[in-house]
Amino acid sequence: MTHRLLTVGIFAAAATMTLQAQTPAPATPEGLVAAAKRAAGQDYSGTFLRICVAPDNLTPRPPPPTTGPRAAPDRATWYAAPYKVFDDLYFVGTRIHSAWALTTRDGIVVIDTLFDYASEPEIVDGLTALGLDPRNIKYVLISHAHGDHDQGAALLQSRFGAKVVMGAADWDATLQRPPAAAGGVPKRDISVGAEGTKITLGGTTIDVIATPGHTRGTLSYIFPVHDRGRALTIAYAGGTAFNFPREAENFAIYRDSQKKMGDAARAAGATVLMTNHTEFDRAYDRARLAQLPRAAGEKHPYETDQATVLRYFEMSGLCAEAQRLSMEPAN
Ligand SMILES: [Zn+2]
Repeated sequence: MTHRLLTVGIFAAAATMTLQAQTPAPATPEGLVAAAKRAAGQDYSGTFLRICVAPDNLTPRPPPPTTGPRAAPDRATWYAAPYKVFDDLYFVGTRIHSAWALTTRDGIVVIDTLFDYASEPEIVDGLTALGLDPRNIKYVLISHAHGDHDQGAALLQSRFGAKVVMGAADWDATLQRPPAAAGGVPKRDISVGAEGTKITLGGTTIDVIATPGHTRGTLSYIFPVHDRGRALTIAYAGGTAFNFPREAENFAIYRDSQKKMGDAARAAGATVLMTNHTEFDRAYDRARLAQLPRAAGEKHPYETDQATVLRYFEMSGLCAEAQRLSMEPAN
C-alpha cells in the first residue's frame, strides 16, 4: 500500500512537472527582449541594439525633410566602389546603404536606389565600371519609400525605361511629393498589395512579399543567386528600424510581417540574410570580403545557414512584440 501510494505520488509529481514545462511563462517585455537577445546572438547584435534596446521611436523626433534641395554629404564619407559579390549579384551601394544589381539573361533588376546624390555615381557609373550596361535595367525594386532607398528610382525609370516596383501604400506616399523633391518623383508602374507578387526576368524569379511595418508599403524579397555555380537563396528584409509612429498597432503589424517573412525564408530554404542598410548585414564589409580568395570548402562571406537566417526574423518579431507589450496598460 505504501509502495502504491508512493508510485501514485511520483506519477502526480511527474505530471505536474510536465504541465509546468508545457505552460509558457506569461510574456513580459523583459522576457521577450531576453529571448530576442538570444535569437540575435553575435550575428545580429547591432540590429538587436537598434530595435530592441534603443528603438528610434522611443523619443519622437521631427522627420527629416524629404523634399527640397539638400547639400550632398562629402563623398569621402559615403562612396564605395562597386563589387561583384555573387555570380549574378553586384553591390552598387554606398558604405551606408545597399543597392544591388541582379543580372539575368534578359536584363538587370536593381534592388533599392540610394539617395539621389549617390544613385548616379554608384548605380549608373558602378554598373558601367563592372562591365554591365545600365540600359539593360528592366526593373527597379524599392523596398520602401524612404529617401535613402528610393530617390534614384525616377532617374532609372526616366533614363532607362525601367519599371519601378513599390508597395501600394508607399506609392501613395511617393506620389504626394512635389516635383522638386530630391531625385524627382517616379511614375506609378507596378504597385504591390498585401498579396505580394512575383517578378520574373530571364528565368530568374523574385518573390516579392508585402511586409508592412517599417512603412505600410514595405516589401521584402526571396530570390536565388549563384556562388561559383552553386544556387543559394537570399532572404532580403526590406525595412528594419522602428521609426514609425509609436503605436501598439504598428508594432503588431511589424511583428506579423516578421513571422510571415520568416515562414517564407524557411519554405524557400534561405541561407543568406540581406537588408538594405550595411549596418544590419555588413554588406560593405562582405562585398569586399567576397573579393578575397577562399580556401577549399570555405563558404561565401554572405552564406550562413537556415537557422541563422530564421533567427533574424525571430529577433525582429520579438523586439516588435516587446515594444507592443510595453505599451499596454498594466492590469
Ligand atoms: Zn526607412
